[in-house]
Amino acid sequence: MTDQHDNGDIKFLDRNTPKFPLKKIGQIAQDLYDLSGDFKSLKSERDQNYHIQTKSGKNYVFKLSNQDENPGVIDFQLKALAHIKEQDPTLPVPRVLSTKNGRFSGMAKDFQGTEHIVHVLTYLPGIILDEVRQTRTLWKNRGAFLARLDISLRGFFHPHARHHLLWDITRCKDLRPHTLHISDTAARRNIEKIFDHMAADVLPKLKTLRHQVIHNDADVMNSLTDPTQPDIMSGVLDFGDMVYAPLILEPILAADIQTIHKDDYIEFLSTLIAGYDSILPLEEEEIDLVYDLILARYAVFATIIAWRRAMSPDQPAYLPEEETPCWKAISNLMAIKRSIVRDALRKACCYPPFCPTKKENDIADDTGLLLERRHQLMGDAAPLFYKCPVHVERGRGPWLYDVQGNAYLDAYNNVPVVGHCHPHVVKAVSRQIAALNLNTRYIYQNILDYAERLTALLPDHLSSCFFVNSGSEANDIAWQMSKFITGEKGALVMENAYHGITEVTKALSPYELNSELAPHVQTLISPDPYRGLHQDKNDDLVNLFAADTDRAIADMAKSGHKPTAFMIDSSFISNGIPDVPDGYLARVADKVRNAGGLIIADEVQAGFGRLGTDMWGCNVHGITPDFVTIGKPVGNGYPLGVVITSPGILNAYINETQLFSTFGGNPVACAAGMAVLDVIENENLMANACKTGNYLIDGICALMDRHPLIGDVRGRGLIVGVELVKDRETKEPATKETDRMLDLMKDNGVLVGNEGPYSNVIKIRPSLVFREEHADILIKSLDCSLKSL
Ligand code: PMP
Repeated sequence: MTDQHDNGDIKFLDRNTPKFPLKKIGQIAQDLYDLSGDFKSLKSERDQNYHIQTKSGKNYVFKLSNQDENPGVIDFQLKALAHIKEQDPTLPVPRVLSTKNGRFSGMAKDFQGTEHIVHVLTYLPGIILDEVRQTRTLWKNRGAFLARLDISLRGFFHPHARHHLLWDITRCKDLRPHTLHISDTAARRNIEKIFDHMAADVLPKLKTLRHQVIHNDADVMNSLTDPTQPDIMSGVLDFGDMVYAPLILEPILAADIQTIHKDDYIEFLSTLIAGYDSILPLEEEEIDLVYDLILARYAVFATIIAWRRAMSPDQPAYLPEEETPCWKAISNLMAIKRSIVRDALRKACCYPPFCPTKKENDIADDTGLLLERRHQLMGDAAPLFYKCPVHVERGRGPWLYDVQGNAYLDAYNNVPVVGHCHPHVVKAVSRQIAALNLNTRYIYQNILDYAERLTALLPDHLSSCFFVNSGSEANDIAWQMSKFITGEKGALVMENAYHGITEVTKALSPYELNSELAPHVQTLISPDPYRGLHQDKNDDLVNLFAADTDRAIADMAKSGHKPTAFMIDSSFISNGIPDVPDGYLARVADKVRNAGGLIIADEVQAGFGRLGTDMWGCNVHGITPDFVTIGKPVGNGYPLGVVITSPGILNAYINETQLFSTFGGNPVACAAGMAVLDVIENENLMANACKTGNYLIDGICALMDRHPLIGDVRGRGLIVGVELVKDRETKEPATKETDRMLDLMKDNGVLVGNEGPYSNVIKIRPSLVFREEHADILIKSLDCSLKSL
């Protein structure tokens, strides 16, 4: 052999098993440990081992090591066992018996004067798993046991922890030349394929995963159960292959395909891995390598047996004839697809499926089935975007990915305000849900920290929060409070407004209403200088549009009502994102206040810096509301809504009504809310909304020369409307074309929506992490789609 492991190979081939006479063994046990009793020889590859039963009935394992054994490695193993005892005293693993003079090991000389290390461990009772019925409970317990073992080893290190071990899967590249000893051609080819794949794809990934000292050999032969409770693990033996390695290798060595019928293998593996994950959570990247690592484990095993047999044909193989079952295990596993194993394991550990996983046809079928189930379970009208809806699986930043792995630039969704699955929010939510989440009638700190942080961003008088779960609820409560405070019932909203789905907010949402407005509701004409009632730029548009407030209040009076409140979305999104004249909202607010009404700023759309120049739309428009209501983006997708008002209003109402929401503002929601504010601040997202928004508007305006369909481009920050018209003179809405554009842009990889009373405004409302490079993609998609319309 000429490879770098000559030394290891020789040791491995020349086993040099010590041959102390039993009498001498007894003497050594007596001298070093004061131990005597019955000695029964135990099978060992390279050492001389005995089971000792003392007269008092205690049981030990006496180990006399091979002369070539590295004392540092034995020290590593014994110190690891001592560490486990310290960290998890009740974990059933062998304990190290100290010598008479308090050491972990002693020395014994053979008749030639060669020294051998001696150590004694407690003997673990039980039967090996190979001999018991395999059940799901046992598999789960095996996984959980190993995870517990690894937790106990987590903080341990030793200078010999990364010793050279032939069976170490991470060194499998070194075994590649020895596959030549595998006699069966098909098996050899498979094994070479596995090694090559490991070298090219798996080992580089493996290097980046969590490493620690692991047992590294907890197969069925080294795992014990109690015969009276065969589903429960009663211990793990043989710490001789312990090594510093990727953590995921621990369950891999237990994932023994030979003991399980191949039809049950996926269930076995999923249960084992889920058992491990239940105690020590696994990372996605670890789970995704399991399949390849199991194959590698068998490839290593098969190669070593073949090599050993070839190099020492006269020595009886310590390992029985295991080559054929091992080859079979490999071909059985190779017959199962990697993606099937990966998805089963991901599911077992509550991770979403890997993307992409399926063939196009399968996806079409799946999506068809999902649509059918959706209609059955969620009603025929459960809405979906696009003629051919997107079957999404993942999101990251401004991107969404479908089940085929196609990427879509998401320029529609404002809920993930700081980008899909922002890692900071994900971490905050998952760490909080792992610690506490409960009914909100308890004291916990983060709701207060969050309320303080939120109200610090608002005018001083808005300092009290009522937490709910959605924008609709927030608006509903703000409306209830307004009614209580004013004693009136009349509502003022914009024409085409949308404020929610509750009975109250639906009545305030002409956008969704299929019926006449209720008598207590009056709408104001949209302050739209492009298509609205007043369009002449030379006119006093502020006063002209605002005058409609007087008309509305007067009409309201005719039906016997006075204004309770004016509820306003200051992004005017459902009005088609008009270019509202500066000062308009302040004029309307004055008129409403003069008539005794309150102002509810519905910041579900405009809030959190979307408009680019202020955190809140009400500030952008210079109004000071009595209520700010927030929803959608507040938790980046974790449900949360908040009504923020003055202490006087809040107290007056809750003292009267005992208002309470079970989930509203629970610890996880507040952790999400807090994390969103962190990201907006840390990543300077408001300034980005301003900069990217301007860039986007300029880029789209530049398309107007070659696309006469674009009638108008407008917006503030990252809320942009592109109005499509059939004729720039008549401004006839290009409603059908807009509808078609949504599908075309989707097919060109960009998701947008439509808005406005004629649904002819392309609505662009991406997450605030949208940068100029994303704007470029959007502009290109818009250009191409308009060309192909
Ligand atoms: N107000 C506005 C302005 C909205 O856009 C929406 C939702 N689109 C709501 C309220 C209702 O929020 P939710 O769907 O969370 O109830």
